[in-house]
Amino acid sequence: MAEILTENFSVNILNGSRRALAKAMSLVESSRESDFFKSQELLLKILPKTGNSLRIGITGSPGVGKSTLIEEFGLHLIEQGKRVAVLAIDPSSRRSGGSILGDKVRMPRLAREHNAFIRPSPSGGALGGVARKTRECMLLCEAAGFDVIIVETVGVGQSETEVSSMVDLFMVLLLPNAGDEIQGIKRGIMELADLVVITKSDGEYVSKAEEARRRFKSALRLMLAKHNGWRPKVLTTSAVEAKGINDLWTACWEFYESGERQKFLKEQRRHQTMEWLHQILEHELLRTFYGDERVVRILPDFEKKVFEQKMLPARAAHELLKAFQNLQ
Ligand code: GDP
Repeated sequence: MAEILTENFSVNILNGSRRALAKAMSLVESSRESDFFKSQELLLKILPKTGNSLRIGITGSPGVGKSTLIEEFGLHLIEQGKRVAVLAIDPSSRRSGGSILGDKVRMPRLAREHNAFIRPSPSGGALGGVARKTRECMLLCEAAGFDVIIVETVGVGQSETEVSSMVDLFMVLLLPNAGDEIQGIKRGIMELADLVVITKSDGEYVSKAEEARRRFKSALRLMLAKHNGWRPKVLTTSAVEAKGINDLWTACWEFYESGERQKFLKEQRRHQTMEWLHQILEHELLRTFYGDERVVRILPDFEKKVFEQKMLPARAAHELLKAFQNLQ
C-alpha cells in the first residue's frame, strides 16, 4: 500500500480512477492501525474536494424492494448525466457473518454502468465503526466526482439512525400491503423520514399502494416536520414497471432546492460532522476500555458480583472506571 501515500494516488482518485477509489476504500475499511493513519492522511488530502454530492439515505425492511428500486433510480440518474455511488450498511454482517442485505450480486445492471460505483457493507467492527467507514467512503466518492451518493441500510436496529445522521435526505421504503407495525417500522424512524416511498405499486397492489400513500400522508401531517420549511412527502413507485422513478427524483431535487434556499443543509452537515466526532470518541473510548488488559482481568469478577446481586451496577461501573482511569 506504499502507493497510497504518493501524491499520484490522491490525484488518481480525484481524476475518477475506479481502481484508486476501490483501493482507498479498502484502506479506510481495514482494521489495521497503520492503515488507519494512512487513510486519515489520504482523507485529509482529498477533503477540499468533498461535499459536492447529494447524500441520500435509504432504509426499509428486507424484501421491501430496496435494491430493485435503487437500481432503477440509479439508472435513471445516470440517464440524466449523473454519476451514482451506492454504499451499504448491513447491521447483520458484523454479528453473524451472514447478511440481511444478501450476498448475491445486487443491482447487476447498475453495477455494469461506468458511471455507477457499488460498494457492499464493510464487515467487522461495531456498528459505530462500520458507520465511520461508510462516512469516509462517502467522502472518497465525493472526491472521485460522484454526484449522488446513496447509503442503503436495512430498517432494523440502530443503523437507520446512523445513516440518517450522515445524509441530507432520508428515505423510508414501505410495502403497500402491510401496516407500519407489521413492517417493523418504528415511529422514530418515520420521524426521520424526508420522503416515504410505497414500493411495488403495480398489478394487484396499485390501489393498496394508493391507500397506503393517503394513510401515511395524513399520519405524517401530524408529525412535526424535521426540517424548516420541508414537509415530508409520500410517493408510490414500481421499480419493476419503472413507474414513479422520475417523480422520486423530482421530489429529491425539490428537497435540495428548498434546503439550499434556507442554507439548512449546510448547517445540518456541520452538525453532522460534530456528531460524527462524538460518535468516534464514544466508539474509541469503548474500544479502549474493553480492550484494556486490566479491565479484561477484573471485569468478570464485577460481572459476577452484579449477577449475584452482591453489588449494584452503578457501583461496579464506578469501580471499573476508576481502575481504568488510574491506568491512563
Ligand atoms: P430488498 O431486500 O429490500 O433489497 O428487496 P429486493 O429489491 O431484493 O426485492 C424483494 C423482492 O420484491 C424481489 O423478489 C423483487 O423482485 C420484488 N420487487 C422489488 N421491487 C418490486 C416492484 O416494484 N414490484 C413488484 N411487483 N415486485 C418488486
